[in-house]
Amino acid sequence: MERKLISIVVPCYNEELTVEKFYSEAVRIFEGYKHDFEIIFVNDGSKDSTFDIITALAKKDARVKGLSFSRNFGHQSAIICGFEHAKGDAIVELDCDLQDPIEVVLEMIEKWEEGYQVVHGRRIKRKGESIFKKATAAVYYALLNKITKRPVPRNTGDFKLYDRVALNAILAMPEKDKYIRGLASWVGFKQAFVDFERQARFAGETKYTLKKMINLAKTGIISNSDAPLYLSLITGGILCFLSFACFITFIVLAICNITLPLTAWLFPTATLLISISWIFNAISNVYLAKVYDGIKDRPDYILADKVNIE
Ligand code: UDP
Ligand code: MG
Repeated sequence: MERKLISIVVPCYNEELTVEKFYSEAVRIFEGYKHDFEIIFVNDGSKDSTFDIITALAKKDARVKGLSFSRNFGHQSAIICGFEHAKGDAIVELDCDLQDPIEVVLEMIEKWEEGYQVVHGRRIKRKGESIFKKATAAVYYALLNKITKRPVPRNTGDFKLYDRVALNAILAMPEKDKYIRGLASWVGFKQAFVDFERQARFAGETKYTLKKMINLAKTGIISNSDAPLYLSLITGGILCFLSFACFITFIVLAICNITLPLTAWLFPTATLLISISWIFNAISNVYLAKVYDGIKDRPDYILADKVNIE
């Protein structure tokens, strides 16, 4: 069988406790394997010694490539940067903390060799994730999948394998601030799943603060669905119908000689209408902000340094 190159893309933010262990695990699993491999560590503006460790690894092993951002641009930008620099025939993305077991990549490669072009890692157990995270994820993905045309498969994250063709299709899209797990399913091609048990973090704390989680959740909806915009149309229609029904009721009551004090209706009706119109105004503004970002056309990341990459 022809030897292929597998690119392993690893975003790293303050991962000085895990990078070396990730490297040694990857080498243990891929050394002497039927395909070649490269590991692309993307240092997402770490404040610790993460990039020094990556540089040292890259100096002793040419299969290790390092890219370093000028500041923290976020997990999704780090993945995109790794994808853009990957040379592989198949490209895999995983966490630096060994939560996504590297052995599972071998199963993904088997699927790829069967002809699948996007292979999703599907979590059948989630160790080391808080109840809050599991609960909010369940509610969020149920909502997201209701309002998007191409759902994000349940219990999957960014741990996936992409065939070169599928990855190029994603990279060719000009949109900024990509929601990668949404695009992976949107892009189509032959898709498969590999089930795995997500491990607890090998060392350190999660780098996904609540703020980063909310930001990713927002991108997931705003980049994938225009349903919130149409909500205003539906709500407007319902309110219009209700006020019309109210008007008819008033007339009927007046014919029957029953008159209600108008002020009893006025305050709740006015506040309800004003607050609803504020909500929809806000929704439009969130999309407007996305368009504004698109027009500014700033890059997803800025590189400050690289090793073993021309
Ligand atoms: N990460 C990153 N930039 C960030 C936050 C996280 O590159 O701003 C990396 C992090 O180092 C890890 C991966 O993205 O390799 C996933 O983050 P983490 O493991 O902290 O998230 P969790 O698995 O807890 O959701
Ligand atoms: Mg993790």
